[in-house]
Amino acid sequence: MSNEIRLKVQNKERITPGDALWLWKNAGDDELRELAQIVRKRFHEPTACTYMLMRIINYTNVCVAQCDYCAFYTLPGEAGGYVLSEAQVFAKIDELLELGGDLVGFNGGFNPQLPLEYYCEMFAAVRARYGDRMEFYALTIAEFMYLADHAKLDYATTAQRFKDAGVRWITGGGSEILTEDFRRRHSKFKYTVAQYFEAQAAIVAAGLNSSATMVIGFDESIEERIEHLERTRHFQDEVGGLGSFLCWTFKPYFTPLGSQLGGIEISTAEYLRHLALSRIYLDNIPRIRTSVLTQNERALEGLLYGADDFDLPIEDEVTQKAGATINLQFDKILAFARSLGYTPAYRSVARERSSLIPTY
Ligand code: SF4
Repeated sequence: MSNEIRLKVQNKERITPGDALWLWKNAGDDELRELAQIVRKRFHEPTACTYMLMRIINYTNVCVAQCDYCAFYTLPGEAGGYVLSEAQVFAKIDELLELGGDLVGFNGGFNPQLPLEYYCEMFAAVRARYGDRMEFYALTIAEFMYLADHAKLDYATTAQRFKDAGVRWITGGGSEILTEDFRRRHSKFKYTVAQYFEAQAAIVAAGLNSSATMVIGFDESIEERIEHLERTRHFQDEVGGLGSFLCWTFKPYFTPLGSQLGGIEISTAEYLRHLALSRIYLDNIPRIRTSVLTQNERALEGLLYGADDFDLPIEDEVTQKAGATINLQFDKILAFARSLGYTPAYRSVARERSSLIPTY
């Protein structure tokens, strides 16, 4: 079996869900790394990798979705809820620019007090003030769907409204594990998998960029992880528009689900194996990203397991509240990438943005 799968990968044939399951259960780390490198080489020079300096702006923590894996939100009316002002958003962007970064991701809760206009005005103001000096990922698909529902608009109209406000990116964030059963178990007020892909198709059809994401380390089975990869690969085949795939790990601290599961994170070794499997499986997504935010410096070992890109984040309250730590010693992190044999090059989404069609 191992040889059959190896031949498939070498001959650029697709592996099946059954092959992926076999690899997960039987392949050693060396074998997974080697197969992942075969696929990586189709898209990237062997020692090349890229990184971005960025921050997430968590514009509100008020949320009605009540996902059991979240330590970030407060319910409407509860103490501690906030909404950032435009001035606060600008201050965060200015600080990032001063540090040399040029990418911001907006991510917040499902806040029923904020109408679509709040978002469109905020994004238009950011675009007007900064132009092409920086780029921003406006929301995740999860927030996008909530806003469309809240405004009683279809996904196509909502995507166009954001585009008109200067938005160019809506990320695939909020996907966690894309199986209906996972959603029922952990975020039943959020959306179905079918709705997620319907929304993402509308975003791509509107000419906006999107991306694929995944989070592992909850209580999902390996079969559920593979289903997520299969659905992602299928979407890319049928619709396209996914420039990259980013997987990170669940931070369980201070979350209801984390307490239920004993507060234990999955190991970095398991994360790295999953990255390799993702690279092998997602043969139609050129950029596989490794998560410094949740794995710190060791995320860079993901380059050996098929990844080619990573963020250096300076803030993300959602994961920080659940136990993620931010390391601002960027030189040290980049030196670690070099010590593994890679030459990290800064990747500016703002400079890449000349086309709305992803070029990678
Ligand atoms: S993960 Fe996002 S959608 Fe779910 S409760 Fe937290 S803020 Fe709300």
